[in-house]
Amino acid sequence: MDLQFNQRERAFRDEVRSFIAQRLPDDIRRKVQTLSPLEKDDYYRWHRVLYERGWAAPGWPAAYGGPGWNAIEQHIFLEEIAAGWAPRMLPFGLNMVAPVIIEFGNDAQRARYLPPILSGEEFWCQGYSEPGAGSDLASLSTKAERHGDTYVIEGTKTWITTAQWADWIFVLARTDPNAKKQEGISFILVDMRSPGVTVRPIVTIDGGHEINEVHFDRVEVPVENRVGDEGAGWTYAKFLLEHERTGTAGISACRQIVELLDEVREREEIVDRRIDERIAEIDIELTALAFTELRVLAAESAGKRPGPESSILKLRGTEIQQALTELLLDASGPFASNANTRRYLNFRKASIYAGSNEIQKNIIAKRILKV
Ligand SMILES: Cc1cc2nc3c(=O)[nH]c(=O)nc-3n(C[C@H](O)[C@H](O)[C@H](O)COP(=O)(O)OP(=O)(O)OC[C@H]3O[C@@H](n4cnc5c(N)ncnc54)[C@H](O)[C@@H]3O)c2cc1C
Repeated sequence: MDLQFNQRERAFRDEVRSFIAQRLPDDIRRKVQTLSPLEKDDYYRWHRVLYERGWAAPGWPAAYGGPGWNAIEQHIFLEEIAAGWAPRMLPFGLNMVAPVIIEFGNDAQRARYLPPILSGEEFWCQGYSEPGAGSDLASLSTKAERHGDTYVIEGTKTWITTAQWADWIFVLARTDPNAKKQEGISFILVDMRSPGVTVRPIVTIDGGHEINEVHFDRVEVPVENRVGDEGAGWTYAKFLLEHERTGTAGISACRQIVELLDEVREREEIVDRRIDERIAEIDIELTALAFTELRVLAAESAGKRPGPESSILKLRGTEIQQALTELLLDASGPFASNANTRRYLNFRKASIYAGSNEIQKNIIAKRILKV
């Protein structure tokens, strides 16, 4: 894609490109290229390299340790991360809970939680979904009963990504069982080492272990760990989801797959106009999506919330990701590698997480098209 960057932007791109080429450890690059599972330590090592350079949190305000980049610079950085086969940073601390703490937390919470997220020393996970509450998240039943200065949390969260590594989980819990569904929910930060927290692994269709069930058996949490007002958690939860969906467009991940496709075509000497046409179609869609992402990033840099446009990014981004992984298998036919088969199976999840694609279509219909 040619965004016609100006001279300063091209210099920035070259700086990021050579930094990644020099500083990304080879073993991590190889794992990303072959879709081999990354370990916690892989994420940590790469996070520390970026942290030491001041680049760990591209979207954060400079006041909290972000690099103070504008939308184009953030976009260039993400493109170069993909082009250089660097891992995507885990979003749960940096891109999910941190913006909520910055926006709705108090000074003591900002001072306690933001520095170890920035430095990579504390890992987070997201405790929203439950066995009976996914798309209809507001019907969640995990409860937090208040006893003086303590909440006692009881319930089960499910599909929790990287809970097996997390030091902290942000939990949506019902603090008022008598209020209307959306009004009785609070946003609470829970230390994963608290007595009564149990993590059970869930293995996905590709054989990987990314997600878990997390059980809370009368877990005691100080009331000071609640972010914002009691009962206002739904507002913060929606704010967070808009940030999460912006990040799921995965344009940079798609660029990596297009590169793999080119390699497969060359290696297998595939001459098939139908494959070429499908790649060209996807490339056009990807370019259009990249411009939409830039518009959303520009609005965010100007202090606006991502809004329902982030649903378009999530929907189209994940449709393209799945189309590309399908195309990789179609292009290789019976010679498809294990890595590409795993990739195809793994990406089935993309139309479900961060709010299923059907739900994104409902949001687009109601809030953008107003039908
Ligand atoms: C790999 C993976 C990682 C995840 N990680 C996390 C995590 O870290 N933390 C977390 O909290 N959650 C996580 N999730 C959970 C995810 O957010 C939910 O799976 C998702 O919101 C869908 O909820 P559900 O699974 O309960 O499906 P359901 O809500 O039961 O939906 C089932 C089907 O019905 C459709 N449907 C439901 N309601 C409607 C409607 N109103 N209109 C049209 N269609 C509808 C859905 O699109 C879907 O196809 C993850 C999920 C996956 C797959």
